[in-house]
Amino acid sequence: MIQPAKPDLVTVNIDGKEIAVPKGTNVIEAARLVGVDIPHYCYHPKLSVVGNCRMCLIEMGMPAVDPATKAPVMDPVTGKQRINWIPRPQIGCATNASPGLHIRTQTPQIKDCREGVMEFLLINHPLDCPICDQAGECKLQEQSTGYGRGYSRYIENKNVKPKRTQLGPRVTLDDERCILCSRCIRFSKEVAKDDVLGFIDRGSYSTLTCYPGRKLENNYSLNTVDICPVGALTSTDFRFKMRVWFLKQSNSIDTESSVGASTVVWSREGVIYRITPRRNDEVNDTWMADSGRLLYKAVRAETRLTSTQPLATLATQAADLLKASRGTIAIVGSGQSSVEEQFLTRKLANALQAPVSLVARTGAGDGVLVSADRNPNLRGALVTGLVCALPSARLDELATAIDSGRVKTVVSVGEDLLGAGLTAAHLAKVSIVYLGTQANATSVVAKVVLPTLSVFEKAGTLVNQQFRLQKFAKAVPGPTGAFDDLAVLSQLVGLVGGTAVSSELHTLWTLITTEVPALGTVTYL
Ligand code: SF4
Repeated sequence: MIQPAKPDLVTVNIDGKEIAVPKGTNVIEAARLVGVDIPHYCYHPKLSVVGNCRMCLIEMGMPAVDPATKAPVMDPVTGKQRINWIPRPQIGCATNASPGLHIRTQTPQIKDCREGVMEFLLINHPLDCPICDQAGECKLQEQSTGYGRGYSRYIENKNVKPKRTQLGPRVTLDDERCILCSRCIRFSKEVAKDDVLGFIDRGSYSTLTCYPGRKLENNYSLNTVDICPVGALTSTDFRFKMRVWFLKQSNSIDTESSVGASTVVWSREGVIYRITPRRNDEVNDTWMADSGRLLYKAVRAETRLTSTQPLATLATQAADLLKASRGTIAIVGSGQSSVEEQFLTRKLANALQAPVSLVARTGAGDGVLVSADRNPNLRGALVTGLVCALPSARLDELATAIDSGRVKTVVSVGEDLLGAGLTAAHLAKVSIVYLGTQANATSVVAKVVLPTLSVFEKAGTLVNQQFRLQKFAKAVPGPTGAFDDLAVLSQLVGLVGGTAVSSELHTLWTLITTEVPALGTVTYL
């Protein structure tokens, strides 16, 4: 077996604490490891270093050696090697760990530097925190408590800049709040590969803007809002909607493609207000596509399916239909279902001895965080054995089976069959049991409709394109008249004569680990 190469570790001393870190580790990151916070604005772990905000100033020194003999120079008082401290402060973001590096972050000189930087940054700042969307998650506000003066020595008039410039369809700029850190510029150029932002004018008149004739409209534009350390870049969708400290955060997964970016769903009293990316270095670093942030809009869309009948009644109607059509049933599963739902769909297929098809959903991959495979859990269907091969986008075999009369009843788990290659004539020839969240051409003609929950209203797991099993949490309760997918499927399995299976996630996972070898070592926590 090939062993991964061991990192070349070096020992550095941060505020008197020694720590071994891989050579070249950024000092801000090394300090984090020993619990030392070096304040910063322009530095971002996933962007190039520019060192322009000067907030991360530190004192830096190296062990002294005799220039002639290279022998360590010892301190006669402490008996330890003397440290040659550089007289002037250095920026931490542009300093990498090297053998013997010493840094000090809490000296009077450093405190003085930070206070000076803060005073400069606040000279022209509008101090409109009470109406600022960034309040509660603003780095400027945060550092003001530690390094702010508490009063202003600036008696001149502040520079007035535009308060609401539409940089693109989703991002609004409040120029007065911008501290010129350039994070948004570097993100657009380095990550989104859309070099659209830049500064114009000089000194305190410097202003962030788009290049002439261009807009910040790429599908990653809202990441600039996430990384803006102040309230300069705001999401047009979220602007003035809610104070962030009222919002509950739930860890979720972006389901727009098989990339499976880690996300946070922000909600209050059952209403979702925004979705932001969650750091996951293995999948999405700290980014996500704008398109994935809008998925929550479907939760309250007019097309949302609910029922006035209880689940037991609907499940019995569906089961009666299925029992009466045994031998002529086909199931269309979904690459959008969770692993647990796919496992239960397989149980239903086994109980009915019905073949299962899946619908491929594809689009143009963008080479960043939206893949060509738009199903978030196609690989889950392969792992759980729901299907044995990658599906196509058209249900051609099912169409032939319907035309020949071999299939008379179809169970669709969330798929609009009309959009998957079947015609209205095909739908007219079969009885349909439809499980799903949104009304569509299939639900309209279905004999039984079982309204289910969106990904934001339930918990479970998905397998992304790297075959990483990832968990998502329930963020908000589902609407009245929509039922948990697992409850629907487990009821159907039992009612059509299959072995009873639990719809409770932990109990279900005990079964999954025994029946799905690839998931045998998983513990669902
Ligand atoms: Fe930095 Fe925000 Fe200004 Fe962009 S808008 S330069 S991210 S402060």
